[in-house]
Amino acid sequence: MQLTNVREHNLGTVLNTLATSDSPLSRAGLAQATGLTKPTVSRLVDELLSAGFLLEHAPTRSAGAAGGRPSTPVSIAEASVVGLGASVSADHVAVNMIDLRRHVIASAETPLTRAPTPRDAVVLIADLAAQLLAETPHTRVSGICVSVPGRLTPDGRRIRSAPNLGWDDAPLAELLESAPGLEALDVSIENDARLVAETELVNRRGEGFVLVYGESGIGGAVVVDGDIQRGANGWAGEIGHLCLDVDGPQCRCGRRGCLEAYASYWAIAQQSMQAGSGYISEFFAALEGAEREAAIERIGSSLGLALAQVLNIVDLPTVVLGGYFRHLAADVAPLINAQLDRHALAAEAGDVRIETTTAAARPSLAGAALRAIQPVFDAPAEWIRRFGG
Ligand SMILES: [Zn+2]
Repeated sequence: MQLTNVREHNLGTVLNTLATSDSPLSRAGLAQATGLTKPTVSRLVDELLSAGFLLEHAPTRSAGAAGGRPSTPVSIAEASVVGLGASVSADHVAVNMIDLRRHVIASAETPLTRAPTPRDAVVLIADLAAQLLAETPHTRVSGICVSVPGRLTPDGRRIRSAPNLGWDDAPLAELLESAPGLEALDVSIENDARLVAETELVNRRGEGFVLVYGESGIGGAVVVDGDIQRGANGWAGEIGHLCLDVDGPQCRCGRRGCLEAYASYWAIAQQSMQAGSGYISEFFAALEGAEREAAIERIGSSLGLALAQVLNIVDLPTVVLGGYFRHLAADVAPLINAQLDRHALAAEAGDVRIETTTAAARPSLAGAALRAIQPVFDAPAEWIRRFGG
């Protein structure tokens, strides 16, 4: 490594150690936790302190070191630097803000009764971001990452297709970069299911699983040994348009018999007497009686059949259900297992584990915010320079 890279790497290590620590750490404690020498740690801490990334606490004298010099613990300064996450869905646009501790410090959202156009989504995101930033006036922003239920172009700048938003070749990055208040920020966009998988990996480091995420549509990700498979075009794991029946119902993507045409929110809402407006999660929570039973049957058996095909190819031990599937997991799991027993080779090796996402509500939004703050951990010196420190 070159010297500048070593410094970046070490600053990132100190920052990350403090971000994941439950309590403030002394320079000696940081040296022990990071394996760096005490003089190196002291120099790095001074640099991060003068940039305002860290906060110094009152000196303490450790119990064991009678007569020793007091140590001055440091911690991440709350809200000194933040990343913005945003999510666009058929039922809402949301923005949240996380700081270097990776804590969500503010969030706001606008519920929608129909999917926004790309332009409307950008206006709503810019408004919500401005609202959050006005509440946190002294913070510095590393960037914004926007989660979208759609497929991106390989350069990550446009949405090639988001059928459940009605978007086709939308220049989202360009629109975001020219939105008032967002012009100065680093902008990125990402598929929602991929961001859910990234959020999930915080608690499933190194694991292998198939993620299925039910939201505006049905997204997915294939994760092997902690690596989210991207594929040649970036949509590996897109389980929603796996064909279950060539003569099946019409899908919004233009094909027939896709998983989405059976188990997506819009497919279930079409079959329901209940109005499909408001939050998607609330729609499923409100289903009851025969209607709920029919929805569970339709989702469990189609999802199980789709997962059997996927598991036969990728041979992974765990299925992780997210979005509205998470709330239905207890009821759909037996139906999924029945399909796996019938159609999956995995059944020969024993049970496939059906689990739910560990992250809280809106995991794609959480993943977007994590994405937005990560560059500061990757290159702290660069950000200290950019923030004019
Ligand atoms: Zn389809």
